[in-house]
Amino acid sequence: MSRTGAADSPMKPDSRFPFPHSPTPTRCQTNPTLFDFARGDRTGPTRAAAEKQMERARQACSGCPIVKDCLRWALVSKPLTKVGIYAATTPGQRTELRKRMAERLGRDWIDAVAAQDQARLV
Ligand code: SF4
Repeated sequence: MSRTGAADSPMKPDSRFPFPHSPTPTRCQTNPTLFDFARGDRTGPTRAAAEKQMERARQACSGCPIVKDCLRWALVSKPLTKVGIYAATTPGQRTELRKRMAERLGRDWIDAVAAQDQARLV
């Protein structure tokens, strides 16, 4: 499955939020397995290895040229980003950030963000 909801993904991306363009291939594009975790990877005997891999992925994100836009995309693309590292954040951290967005902009905060984007284009 594509990490960015591309055509080969079984999940439908929100067309209002295309994955941000990067001037150079990102680390998650050149090495996607570093960034992907299945549910439960961070428990049991695989936990130590998974934690190490996750830390490497988070470090790779810190040097990414589109990290801010990636975070925004990951937050509005919840169905596509339930697992894995995006913009150096874990699924749990993104859940917390989504809660804060809902507190700030309301339950329909994703629609509000899309409307803000649309207004900027006019
Ligand atoms: S910030 Fe986003 S696009 Fe960049 S490497 Fe990390 S997950 Fe990939």
